[in-house]
Amino acid sequence: MKSVLVIDKNNKYSEYDEIFLMNSGLTNWYGWLCSIGQTNLEIEKDGEIHGGNCKQKIHYGNLHEDNFIFTPIKNLTICNQNVCKCFHDISIYKIKDSSYTNIEPITQSNIKKFVKVLPVDNQYDFNITWVLHTKCNFSCSYCPPHLHSEKIIDKNKIDTGFINFINTFSNKKIMLNFLGGEPTLYDELPNKVKEIKKLNSDNRILITTNGSRSFKYLRELAKYAEISFSVHLHQLSLDRLADKINNLSVFNDIQPFQVHIIYPSDSDSKLKQFLGKLTSKNYYIRVIKIRKQYEDQRKDYYDYSLKQENLINNINKYFENLN
Ligand code: SF4
Repeated sequence: MKSVLVIDKNNKYSEYDEIFLMNSGLTNWYGWLCSIGQTNLEIEKDGEIHGGNCKQKIHYGNLHEDNFIFTPIKNLTICNQNVCKCFHDISIYKIKDSSYTNIEPITQSNIKKFVKVLPVDNQYDFNITWVLHTKCNFSCSYCPPHLHSEKIIDKNKIDTGFINFINTFSNKKIMLNFLGGEPTLYDELPNKVKEIKKLNSDNRILITTNGSRSFKYLRELAKYAEISFSVHLHQLSLDRLADKINNLSVFNDIQPFQVHIIYPSDSDSKLKQFLGKLTSKNYYIRVIKIRKQYEDQRKDYYDYSLKQENLINNINKYFENLN
């Protein structure tokens, strides 16, 4: 889904998605003015709330505490990071300098010289990422260990977090994105998602999952939340995951879902095999190059040939035009 508007100095604009901008090395905004902390929030597994996800994130307190009060900042922050890495941070409002504050998009243009970035979908009071916990039933070598290190989910803390969350955001229009760990390991998630959606039917809820929960669980979740399947090609149950995606795609009482295929550079045949298993393809599919985020032992995962780069771009372009 194209979720980012980039605008050049002549007010011309293009729409892209975060994956394209990242794959193309176009998320370096050192020295720009960034709205980090104003609308994009991140809730960590221990309940700590920050505005933003990069090193310049702004601390807002702890959602697990009874006296939690939330007061977001209003000023722009000067970016001093070499690269903006998090999907959630990439699409937020940012400008090259203050002279571009009032520039509005007019028409399509050259992406390389853009001076302003905006989310395409700008209608929410808050855009929140919530890392529910960091327990995962997978252990992908390219996933930094701290993201799948937790052994036991503290259900009581998460339950309290949901009570405070609903009190704090019940009269706001929110986009809420659940991450992990594997967020679906929290059994109550379909019920909580239903409750948040019922607060305001315009609330948008997204969940990234490896798709390992039962079809019944995923189907219930998909009624109220937009699922983003993160497909890890090394898993043994790849065919079963393709079946779940195929079976889900026929229901018309579910939210739209996406399939993100994480593609290590040694996995050409598995990528083709998995794509061949998907039948209806009436949803958004993206192939994602992995980025080295820590010293992974699997060094063979990260070297993409030109042929593979072209393959990724061609597949993504094909599915972009299909949906
Ligand atoms: S890294 Fe991204 S989110 Fe952080 S300050 Fe820079 S542009 Fe903003």
